[in-house]
Amino acid sequence: MRLGGLVKSTALDFPGLMSAAVFTQGCNFTCPYCHNPHLVRLFGEPLPEDDVLLFLRRRRPLLDGVIITGGEPTLQPDLAEFCKKLQGLGYAVKLDTNGSAPGLIADLIERRLINYLALDIKDDPRHYPPEIAPHDPGEAIVETINILKRTALPHEFRTTAVSPFVTAGSMAAISQAAAGPAQLFIQVCRPGDYLNPDFMAAQPPLTRPELEEFCALASHYLPTRIR
Ligand code: SF4
Repeated sequence: MRLGGLVKSTALDFPGLMSAAVFTQGCNFTCPYCHNPHLVRLFGEPLPEDDVLLFLRRRRPLLDGVIITGGEPTLQPDLAEFCKKLQGLGYAVKLDTNGSAPGLIADLIERRLINYLALDIKDDPRHYPPEIAPHDPGEAIVETINILKRTALPHEFRTTAVSPFVTAGSMAAISQAAAGPAQLFIQVCRPGDYLNPDFMAAQPPLTRPELEEFCALASHYLPTRIR
């Protein structure tokens, strides 16, 4: 695994579990609002996987979960093996993904190597713009959504509310595609170290009434909250 960061404990990201978060290096998307540019471009030296596993082994009495996030973790060829190692230490594993690898995700679910999944849906899942996905993911995002809708694996959907990607039209498409009992979080985009600061400087931030309108719209199809 190419690991670019470790958060030693968080109570926020894995529902109900005190967790550590490991960050993988590399991503196949280029979301202008990405807050982890150091994991998408210009990598530093990776953290040795053995050091991370040793830390997690020692920290096991205090933590119950490990979040694998990025970057895009499904680009790592040994992701399944890494999940197995974490579960072998007694951890529940949460995967954060952009959903571009439905076959791998289905395999991880089938082999019970993950215990929770959070899927970022960035725009109408049938059409991602080149600013987000330089290589068209085609049907992959819809396929991943449908895999999750068929599985018993606990999961959530997330959409970062950024113009021009998130509009009433794209929110309708997102929520119709994800319709069901799983939670959708509309994430407020907070100022930070963006992957594409010039692009972001040209976008008017979405207003609270706009976010509430999107939330009300999506709530017709699935439980939705702003966070
Ligand atoms: S926000 Fe976009 S660019 Fe950043 S890691 Fe996630 S999918 Fe990749």
